Amino acid sequence: MTDLQAVLDSIHKELTPRIGEGKVADYIPELAKIDANQFGLSVVTVDGKVYSVGHADVPFSIQSISKVFMLTLALGKVGEGLWKRVGREPSGSAFNSIVQLEHEQGIPRNPFINAGAIAVTDVVMAGHAPREAIGELLRFVRYLADDESVTIDDRVAKSETQTGYRNFALANFMRAYRNLDHPVDHVLGVYFHQCALSMTCEQLARAGLFLAARGSNPMTGHSVVSPKRARRINALMLTCGHYDGSGDFAYHVGLPGKSGVGGGIFAVAPGIASIAAWSPGLNEVGNSQLGAVALEMLAARTGWSVFGD
Ligand code: GLN
Repeated sequence: MTDLQAVLDSIHKELTPRIGEGKVADYIPELAKIDANQFGLSVVTVDGKVYSVGHADVPFSIQSISKVFMLTLALGKVGEGLWKRVGREPSGSAFNSIVQLEHEQGIPRNPFINAGAIAVTDVVMAGHAPREAIGELLRFVRYLADDESVTIDDRVAKSETQTGYRNFALANFMRAYRNLDHPVDHVLGVYFHQCALSMTCEQLARAGLFLAARGSNPMTGHSVVSPKRARRINALMLTCGHYDGSGDFAYHVGLPGKSGVGGGIFAVAPGIASIAAWSPGLNEVGNSQLGAVALEMLAARTGWSVFGD
């Protein structure tokens, strides 16, 4: 039996001299203010044990990691019909790229690039006012994490609303191709609020535990999705969760995962544990630099890679 706390402690110790590496996202002004000198890591095992090191109890902006939760809601609403609106292939381009969208007539490559996530949000909004859709997501994430203290940081949402020109371009493009049913400002209002969900590593690992445990959260007994759906969401995270860094993440870490420009990475060791790493400094493709290194060390030291130990 691996002593997980000892593994986490050793990773923390070895990485401490490197904390601060990478570049904090600055295209969202509110995120540019975050102190880069932070690092947290939490692991929650399917038998309900929680292991943490560093700043694992500091809330951060989960940004694109929220796309996993919105995707889960959308699949619950429309099931496989979702795949008429968005594809399931890796994009090989940046998270906010627009070129592919024109080639593919407004159908985004996958639900984790921005265009795809915006389409997924539009699906979840059906029959709801924007405020209600935000409320539904927040309730869902609180339920998953079994923690009512999870919040949305309105300053981050507002900051992105004022500067999210590329996302407005992507959304307008999709609306022109009739792949958005709601007005662009409504869809992006919801999208920016979902990205502004503020969570700690520990809350995030708890919230995603259902993906490691065949669709049910063993800590709460809540059944969230079927085992088949959990497996498929994990497959999408493995192939598309890190944009054009997805291949590299699979190569080095070997776990399904989803990154966000707030510096968080959520990852799943199927049947074993869910993991959340956070360090705000990003690498050149917009994924947490130290977060990825920490996950590589964790996977190597535990033998958790889905490709074998
Ligand atoms: N809110 C961010 C954006 O749309 C999310 C991007 C990310 O985390 N990669 O640009």
